[in-house]
Amino acid sequence: MRDGTRVIRAGLPRATQGEPFLPGPTFAGPYHLAGEPTTSAFSYGRYHNPTWTHFEQALSELEGGPAIVFASGMASITAVLGVTLHTGNILVMPSDGYYTARMLAEGYFASQGIEVRKAPTEGNAQRELLGGATLLWLETPNNPGLNVCDIAELVAAAHHHGALVAVDNTTATVLGQQPLQLGADFSVSSDTKALTGHSDLILGHVATHDPLWIERLHTFRMQQGSVPGPMEVWLAHRSLATLDVRLERQCKSALEIAQLLTSQPEVSLVRYPGLPQDPAYALASRQMKRYGPVVSFVLQGQAQAEHFLSACRLVLQATSFGGVHTTAERRVRWGGDAIPEGFIRLSVGCEDTQDLLEDIAQALGTISTIAFPPTGSPHFYRRVNKRKETKK
Ligand code: PLP
Repeated sequence: MRDGTRVIRAGLPRATQGEPFLPGPTFAGPYHLAGEPTTSAFSYGRYHNPTWTHFEQALSELEGGPAIVFASGMASITAVLGVTLHTGNILVMPSDGYYTARMLAEGYFASQGIEVRKAPTEGNAQRELLGGATLLWLETPNNPGLNVCDIAELVAAAHHHGALVAVDNTTATVLGQQPLQLGADFSVSSDTKALTGHSDLILGHVATHDPLWIERLHTFRMQQGSVPGPMEVWLAHRSLATLDVRLERQCKSALEIAQLLTSQPEVSLVRYPGLPQDPAYALASRQMKRYGPVVSFVLQGQAQAEHFLSACRLVLQATSFGGVHTTAERRVRWGGDAIPEGFIRLSVGCEDTQDLLEDIAQALGTISTIAFPPTGSPHFYRRVNKRKETKK
């Protein structure tokens, strides 16, 4: 079966007369449970839930290995770091990956005696840091820079050094890139983003080939309590059915918007792995099945970027990415990433492609009509150095 069919059928129970295709969410703390607990499949809501089981089955079919769902992408990341790393171990991670994952590693995990080594995503630079490593963490394409690294090559190098490999696959989703097929030990995702795509929930998951790791992750989730609500998981399963059609529109529009941006004098840099002139294009084309919904680009400075965002009529200003509504933000407003003041992360939604192109073109067109203060003006270039912990 092809992707469009697989996502619609994934995780559905066997057709049963008089039953819905996808059973509704099961809301339960405790379940009826008399006598010996192991005689019942379900006992207590922090241990298991049938709505999780259906969604995990769907994710397993798509990922190519057993999967486990968590309350958020960060809970998934915490669980993988938590089950693989112990005092004295070495974690190698991207210096330009998702900010909160870096803060978690360098804060809590470093405080537990784990050495954290960092190198940029581009050029497979993490390979040079693998000596003695326990876990190699990859994020490709990375958020927000959209650099790409070679998963298969880095997996071979890491395994040669005896290290496990986890890939944060949030930007691509499982239909865009399959880390387990490329040899990774863990595929990790924030399902808050494109996988569910409606900007109405927070969720994450981990998939792995090894049932032993799933068992440890189950224990970690049960003991640490980072369990998702059944309503969120049910919404996620329902949303999964449209992942193929959503991504088809999003990736098509993202490429056309990236092409438009490259032709605009106000834009100094465009990054999209699907753009033939992008430095990541050749590798992304080998490694990815789709290039994803996110386009990054740079305008002259903060004032121009803020003006562009407010001049757009269809692009909603918001953090996060991957949803059906096109959104954008001036990413540096959060601090924490080595990017210019005018850097915009644009998440292309499912609106009509032509409407988006026209809206972005008109908003860019208004930039040349304004006399902006010179770049570097303290009023417009007050840099937020301390990242706010409430960001996405
Ligand atoms: N990984 C990446 C690449 C992200 O961009 C994010 C959130 O923005 C996360 C993980 C964390 O996901 P969540 O917000 O669902 O915890």
